[in-house]
Amino acid sequence: MKSSVSIVIPVYNEIENLDELIDRCEKVGGSLDRPWELVLVDDGSRDGSSERLVTAAHANPDHIKAVLLNRNYGQHNAVICGFSNATGDVVVTLDADLQNPPEEIPNLLSQIDQGSDVVGTVRVNRQDSPFRKLASWMINHLVKKTTGVMMHDYGCMLRAYRRNIVEAMLQCRERSTFIPVLANSFAKRTSEIEVSHAERSAGTSKYGFMRLINLQFDLLTCMTTFPLRLLTWVGVIISAGSVAFGGVLLVLRLALGPEWAAAGVFTLFSVLFFLVGIQFVAMGLLGEYLSRVHNDVRGRPRYFVDSVHDQTVMAEESAAAKSDTTKRRLVHS
Ligand code: UDP
Ligand code: MG
Repeated sequence: MKSSVSIVIPVYNEIENLDELIDRCEKVGGSLDRPWELVLVDDGSRDGSSERLVTAAHANPDHIKAVLLNRNYGQHNAVICGFSNATGDVVVTLDADLQNPPEEIPNLLSQIDQGSDVVGTVRVNRQDSPFRKLASWMINHLVKKTTGVMMHDYGCMLRAYRRNIVEAMLQCRERSTFIPVLANSFAKRTSEIEVSHAERSAGTSKYGFMRLINLQFDLLTCMTTFPLRLLTWVGVIISAGSVAFGGVLLVLRLALGPEWAAAGVFTLFSVLFFLVGIQFVAMGLLGEYLSRVHNDVRGRPRYFVDSVHDQTVMAEESAAAKSDTTKRRLVHS
């Protein structure tokens, strides 16, 4: 039997899109040759979206689950909530505004069937403002550098995750997360497919300028503690520069005499820079402790075991292989 699928969608004031969204997801789900469910998480909407989700769940209880949060916790938290309510072997995430077509889901699943742990998508002819595109371009390059995982589009939430990756993400105790980056930190095999991108079908983007900035900080802190270490390097560079400056001053003072040295003003500068540098180094050192506390507080799993091969497992495997050959013999005879 093929693995089951959960489609997780965060919903925040999307009433105009819900009818079409649910309709299209049901069509796609029905066309899959495997068990499926739709997990709709209402992120504290105030426009009647939550009532609409409850109606949908009542109308199709076999396939639709509505989870209502009591207030707005943000897209990524809503998705995490969806993960913990999803039961599928594969979990697909999607936005509610129909910018990502649900009809692409079978293509994501076929990548998972071919062995990927995480399947990302790249938006071709992206329908967003130039500012959003530029921000995404910078972020994608930064993430590529720091995580080492090549993905061309971290912003697109149309993605598929294998169950073990979802479990790993659920074990992380951090409050601010950026799911695609978190998922990739646990994935062994990732792949990407190209998908079309539509304009928002109705309503407006839920990300204003400040929320976007917040999201970028979530992304940065979720991914790396390098900025804290940067303080140390800045300090080392300033201190080393000031020592070199002091050396040059000394030589020039000896060569050109006391009049040149402007009564020790330059020397004072070199001492000052040295002390500033030392302060940066001290802050960097604090940062090193802070980053370790940060890592521990997040409580991310240290590792994930792919498979164990010991006596019990091998015995089970050989028993399964034997019963398989017996079955085949029975079929042949
Ligand atoms: N969303 C959410 N909670 C929020 C903000 C957004 O659940 O606080 C949902 C929203 O309903 C949509 C998805 O997250 O399904 C992406 O939001 P949006 O389309 O506004 O983001 P954009 O496409 O502009 O990045
Ligand atoms: Mg959108």
